[in-house]
Amino acid sequence: MPRELAHRARVVTELLRSFETYFAEHRECDGLVGSIAEVTQNELPWGVAWIECVECGVRWEQRRAVDAGG
Ligand SMILES: [Zn+2]
Repeated sequence: MPRELAHRARVVTELLRSFETYFAEHRECDGLVGSIAEVTQNELPWGVAWIECVECGVRWEQRRAVDAGG
């Protein structure tokens, strides 16, 4: 696997891991939604992940610079 791709995979894994607690807490809720995407901001790639529990009315967002510490 190319090094850059491996790093991206690690960033995605870290983002998902940071949500594990929330997933566990709201697993029983209706309307738990989420998404993970890569966006470009200030000409840098960022991994952005969010989840939202509609039932509880809460939302979390996490960002990681994709190329930081590569
Ligand atoms: Zn909930």
